[in-house]
Amino acid sequence: MKSIMHEKDGTCYLCALLERNYETYGYLEEHHVIYGKGNRPLSERYGLKVYLCVRHHREGKEAVHKNVHNDIILKKMAQRIFEKKHSRKEFMETFGQNYIDIEENEDIYTIPEEAGWGFIPLPEEKGLKDMGDRYIRERKRTR
Ligand SMILES: [Zn+2]
Ligand SMILES: [Zn+2]
Repeated sequence: MKSIMHEKDGTCYLCALLERNYETYGYLEEHHVIYGKGNRPLSERYGLKVYLCVRHHREGKEAVHKNVHNDIILKKMAQRIFEKKHSRKEFMETFGQNYIDIEENEDIYTIPEEAGWGFIPLPEEKGLKDMGDRYIRERKRTR
């Protein structure tokens, strides 16, 4: 399943989200946002994955596999986007945890428009159910 969180366009999700840096990288790593204990295949099934530079994925002190704060940021984003299509109840039943209620400063969880890969729900009446997730990319920026 393709990501419902991030366009695979060479940008790093956390460079963009945390640093407003939309640089494109020749090499990025796919990160399944909710992982461990059988969750990775669920992240795959629902498209809860992002592309990260090595620094934000594994190696730097900001890396999601080392930095709990940044890990939670991604999990909250994933839950929010999941819940645009599914319910809170379904998220809880699937992943067994509610990340949104974990206390954090929420201010930074807005994907800036200039990133170009924010998702908006399609109106039901358009009947585009076979687009899978009923989200389309709102492309504000062209490369
Ligand atoms: Zn990065
Ligand atoms: Zn990872």
